[in-house]
Amino acid sequence: MTTIAERLALAQRRMTLAARQNARQATDITLLAVSKTKPVSDIIAAYAAGQRCFGENYVQEGQQKILELSQQYSDIEWHFIGPLQSNKSRPVAELFHWMHTVDRSKIAHRLNEQRPDTLPPLNVCIQINVSGEASKSGVTNAKDMLALASEIQQLPHLKLRGLMTIPSAEEGTKLLNEFQQMQQLFHQLKQAFPLVDTLSMGMSHDLELAIANGATMVRIGSAIFGARDYGQKPA
Ligand SMILES: *Cc1c(COP(=O)(O)O)cnc(C)c1O
Repeated sequence: MTTIAERLALAQRRMTLAARQNARQATDITLLAVSKTKPVSDIIAAYAAGQRCFGENYVQEGQQKILELSQQYSDIEWHFIGPLQSNKSRPVAELFHWMHTVDRSKIAHRLNEQRPDTLPPLNVCIQINVSGEASKSGVTNAKDMLALASEIQQLPHLKLRGLMTIPSAEEGTKLLNEFQQMQQLFHQLKQAFPLVDTLSMGMSHDLELAIANGATMVRIGSAIFGARDYGQKPA
């Protein structure tokens, strides 16, 4: 059996290799360890191996873990990467450092209002629905992306960092197309907002292709923590 530390090292090696193959610096790509459904002991094991950025998908689960760990592990950077109903936004605004799935102005305004004055601005990414499928969340075109970005830019408790996507395709040319479209949208966003620096895409099975297409943050769950058991939890 492999340990979390070994699997983490393997994910880092995959990232380094992919960066090198694309003439990029490995240090320009952040590994976000996605710990949803996993116990805090797994987070602590990854922390002991040097990991500092963790992603959570569910408000209540994330909130519990942060409250349990934040005192002893105060340099963990917490990222919210799940879908968010606007009536559940407060714990995200109060506890997380990053929010990857801002897809509409109502959520942006609520997070801005609920972010405590005592904390630095919440780092946010705009979620893009790159396939345009009705079942997916996210902004579907460049015009809406730029409009939402302008709104976020005016909110003092939010800091616009870039884009995030969950592709619709698992592999093949469709996946490649979606990553390429994301790279183009990211380029467009950077031209309008030169300070954005984050393209959050790529997961356990496709991090190499994401890095080849400009990802600056990959979100890796099962490759580090093993398969998830959704026994009692909605996917
Ligand atoms: C679960 C999840 C991941 C991690 O997926 P793996 O395939 O386990 O690496 C990444 N991003 C989001 C938004 C997720 O929900």
